[in-house]
Amino acid sequence: MEFRDLKKQYEVLKNQIDSRIADVCSSACFISGPQVKELEIRLADFVGVKHCITCANGTDALTLALMAFGTGNGDAVFVPDFTFFSSGECPAGLGATPVFVDVDPVTYNLDPDKLEDAIVNVINEGNLTPKVVIAVDLFGLPADYCRITDICRKYGLYLLEDGAQGFGGILNNKKACSFGDISTTSFFPAKPLGCYGDGGAIFTDSDDYAAYLRSICVHGKSGEDKYNNIRIGMNSRLDTIQAAILIPKLDAFIDYEFEAVNKFADMYSDELKDIGVIIPVIPSGYSSSWAQYTIQLPGDCNRAEVQSYMKSKGVPTMLYYAKPMHLQGAFEGTYSSRANCPVTERLCNNVLSLPVHPYMTKEIVSEVVGTLSEAIDLQK
Ligand SMILES: *Cc1c(COP(=O)(O)O)cnc(C)c1O
Repeated sequence: MEFRDLKKQYEVLKNQIDSRIADVCSSACFISGPQVKELEIRLADFVGVKHCITCANGTDALTLALMAFGTGNGDAVFVPDFTFFSSGECPAGLGATPVFVDVDPVTYNLDPDKLEDAIVNVINEGNLTPKVVIAVDLFGLPADYCRITDICRKYGLYLLEDGAQGFGGILNNKKACSFGDISTTSFFPAKPLGCYGDGGAIFTDSDDYAAYLRSICVHGKSGEDKYNNIRIGMNSRLDTIQAAILIPKLDAFIDYEFEAVNKFADMYSDELKDIGVIIPVIPSGYSSSWAQYTIQLPGDCNRAEVQSYMKSKGVPTMLYYAKPMHLQGAFEGTYSSRANCPVTERLCNNVLSLPVHPYMTKEIVSEVVGTLSEAIDLQK
């Protein structure tokens, strides 16, 4: 069994993907070919924002967005404690200080009350300038943008939506990657919309940010004179081949994958009801793109034993995430390590992510649930 079945997806989409790749090879436009522009227009249209700027990966997308906000030394950037490392790595890489904030115990996303407490605390301490909130759409579920947007306005902070896992998610009829002043996503192969290597994108309604981002993605080039570099940038482009692969994959995502993955997530939630685990909650008004289906095991359950039993039966599981951001070795001894995040610490001990993707079957869902249930029973 595959954790996320990219082989099956390729079998289904092989003809379209192969012919798209062949087009790129015969044109030899490997960098900034027309497929890149075509994809950017499609993505901006799908998400419902004015500009999409593709780039090399989701981590660069975050760094580029933070650069557009002028983030650097002396700035505090508020980041959920329960997320992938990039969300905290990027602000730290620019010299800013990530301030880790605990998450909501039900949605696993940034807790708005704790966010406001953390902002007020930084203001009262007087050492850092509150600058940016990075809200993460964890496991495919958009963060609580209704409240987070208000908090950002109240304190004059930029909002950066890290939609690396959120692409396709919905809140009140608005799509993920449209909620930030700038929003980002990743096309890492296992994400809701993935390419065949590294890739990423940045979304914004602002013409000024878009022009600046297009410049810093390509060595700080000038919009008018391509031989004039007007600022220090990066080399962060999406390869034409990756854009060409993403176009039919975006069609499949829109046509049936999003619906299919939701169907299998619902089956899980139905079948898991009675085996004593905590299942994901999708609050009303929200839809998830199910980057992960993550449950919590009962507190007295030995997770390592559950995983090894399931593995022995051929069922792969993963730990998203096993370590809070503030306890990551890179932050040891820094201000960022002094976070108070008991919810994240508890989640890191209890969570278990199950296989989920649009190419499952009802039988696979039942097999995963049956094996998980046996693993839990073995501990009684
Ligand atoms: C995957 C991920 C990233 C980084 O994306 P890459 O394309 O792998 O660089 C950033 N943030 C979150 C929340 C992610 O899950």
